[in-house]
Amino acid sequence: MSEDFYDVLGVSRDATEDEIKQAYRKKATEYHPDVSDEPDAEEKFKQVKKAKEVLTDDEKRQMYDQLGHERFEQAEKRGGVGGGAGGRGQGNPFGGMGGGGQGSPFEDIFSQFFGGGGQGGRQQRNRPRQGQNLRTQVALDLEEVYEGVEKQFTVTRPEQCTTCNGRGHPADADVSTCPECNGQGQTTSVRDTPLGRVQQTRTCPRCEGTGETYSETCSTCRGDGITREEATLSVDIPAGIRDGQTLRMEGEGAPGENGGPNGDLLIDVAVRDHEAFERDGDDLYHRHPISFPKAVFGATVEVPTVDGTTELDVPAGTQSGEEFRVRGEGMPHLRGRGRGDLYVQVQVVTPESLNEEQKEALEAFAEAGGEDVDVSEGFFEKIKNSHLF
Ligand code: ZN
Repeated sequence: MSEDFYDVLGVSRDATEDEIKQAYRKKATEYHPDVSDEPDAEEKFKQVKKAKEVLTDDEKRQMYDQLGHERFEQAEKRGGVGGGAGGRGQGNPFGGMGGGGQGSPFEDIFSQFFGGGGQGGRQQRNRPRQGQNLRTQVALDLEEVYEGVEKQFTVTRPEQCTTCNGRGHPADADVSTCPECNGQGQTTSVRDTPLGRVQQTRTCPRCEGTGETYSETCSTCRGDGITREEATLSVDIPAGIRDGQTLRMEGEGAPGENGGPNGDLLIDVAVRDHEAFERDGDDLYHRHPISFPKAVFGATVEVPTVDGTTELDVPAGTQSGEEFRVRGEGMPHLRGRGRGDLYVQVQVVTPESLNEEQKEALEAFAEAGGEDVDVSEGFFEKIKNSHLF
């Protein structure tokens, strides 16, 4: 039932607060139960109100953007978002949320916002985290998609620094306790939020949570533990994939933190246009010229397929523009059996030049049909003249 708040208000995800308020006023007027006679106006009005409430609150909006609609609502139901902001003092304003140590995804996100609570920042800061997903694009020819192909491509991505193995400092650097957080890895402050007073704990910016500082930083990665590297990868392109679809290579994204798994690499597939075929789903369309006599008497003509040619029987009396289906000569069904069809649209070609014999034959043809054609000025002249105008 519930819809994305941005959709409800009809604003883009980067809409300003003013835009959101403006959209709200418009929608609220439209759906106000006293005004609207739509049967579900009241429900819609509530949704609009709710959407505005969340999206005009910086904190909630940020959370909404990170969690997504469904998870935001779930979290809210569990009292995580709007509900009692009590729990001061014990550090975690959202009691009841994933009480266990390594629990729910919410805990993770909530701890980003609100410090994630009293129980053991020390373990939390070293918790393994999955690396980010990365995105790249691979362009393919129709022929490659027809067969399926192993495609090589290069991608520039963050990788763990090989000089320091991701530590950010030489192995023999001197260690001392971080003076900023006294080795806690976190700094704590108390802050007023719309949900009440919240004790906020952040990862220490100086030591980035390690609680330690080092006499030297790694000269390769300058202490990040991460370098940008170009990698050459290959991906199996399944036959029949379509333009705009996405493939996922697990573990080929950014490196995880604290021993967490790597993110994934998402590959957006682009399929280049083909000069002979247009594609619609798994079907292909091709325009094929045939001569006037063949259209009249019928003929077997050779038409191209993606990987060769096939024969098409054109019946006698075919009109220009008629379409014929060649079964099974379209694109392969993705991860299935068989292929789509090839549709051939026949175009009857009017000759632009004729030899003497053809000219006489055509004249005789016209006369036999009772048509009066004037070819005296010279067929070729006529063609030339008609091209001038
Ligand atoms: Zn390094």
